[in-house]
Amino acid sequence: MIEIKNLKKSFGELQVLSDINLTIGKGKIYGLVGRSGAGKSTLLRCINGLENYEEGSLIVDGIEVKSLNNEAAREFRREIGMIFQQFSLLSRMTVYENIALPMKCWKYSKKQIDKKVKELVELVGISDKLYAKPREISGGQKQRVAIARALSMNPKILLCDEATSSLDPQTAKSIISLINKINNELGITIVIVTHQMSVLRSACEEISILENGRIAEAGVVEEIFLRQPKALRNLIGVKDL
Ligand code: ATP
Ligand code: MG
Repeated sequence: MIEIKNLKKSFGELQVLSDINLTIGKGKIYGLVGRSGAGKSTLLRCINGLENYEEGSLIVDGIEVKSLNNEAAREFRREIGMIFQQFSLLSRMTVYENIALPMKCWKYSKKQIDKKVKELVELVGISDKLYAKPREISGGQKQRVAIARALSMNPKILLCDEATSSLDPQTAKSIISLINKINNELGITIVIVTHQMSVLRSACEEISILENGRIAEAGVVEEIFLRQPKALRNLIGVKDL
C-alpha cells in the first residue's frame, strides 16, 4: 500500500507538488494523469525514493520513504520496478544482458540469473529475442525487455512513466494487456502515468488528475469519465479522447 499525506516538493523556488494526498491499495492498478509539467514524473520519483520531499509523508508498506538512509534506500528501491517512455535499454547489450543487469549488480549467481531471465522472457513473450540487440527489435519488444528487467528483482510495485506513449495504439494495447497480466498473476501494485485516455480506461481502477502539483480529482475511473469534472475536461482535447 502507498499512502501519501500532505506531500510537498519544490525544486528551488518552484513548488512542483503542493499538497498531495493519495492512497493506492495493494495489488491495484492506479492511474495518474495531468498536463505536461503537472508533476507526475516527480511524484513517481518520490514514490521510488529517488527524490526528496520537504513536507508531508509518503509511506510504502509501512515505511516512511524519507526516513531511509542510503543503504536502506537502495534496498527499498530494489523492490520497486520502473519503466519509461524511451525504454532506457543499454544499446550495446543483448536482451539477455539488459534483463540480467540488476541481478548482476546485486551479485546473483550465473545460474540464478539464467533461470530468472528465461522465466521473464517467457512471461513477457520475447523468448525468441534473447540474444538480439535493442536496435534489432521493435518498440513494443523493447518495452517488453524493459518490463522484464523491471521485474527481475521481484518488485512489489511497478511504476510506469508514459510507458506506452511512443508506441502505436495496437502495440500500446498489447503492452497494457501485459501489464494487466503482471498485475493479475504476480499481484504487483502498478502505478501508470499516461496521457492516453484509452490506457486509463482499459487498465486502471482508480485515477487521480494532477493540476499544477495538486490533485484536482481522484476516484474510480468510470465514475470520473461519466461525471466529466472540469479537471478532466481540461485534459480532453490535449490528447486522445
Ligand atoms: P510530462 O507530462 O511532460 O512528463 P510531468 O507531469 O511528468 O510532465 P514533471 O517532470 O514532474 O512533470 O515536472 C514538473 C515540474 O518540475 C516542471 O515544471 C519541471 O520543469 C520541474 N522539474 C522536474 N524535475 C526537475 C529538476 N530535477 N530540477 C528542476 N525542476 C524540475
Ligand atoms: Mg513526466
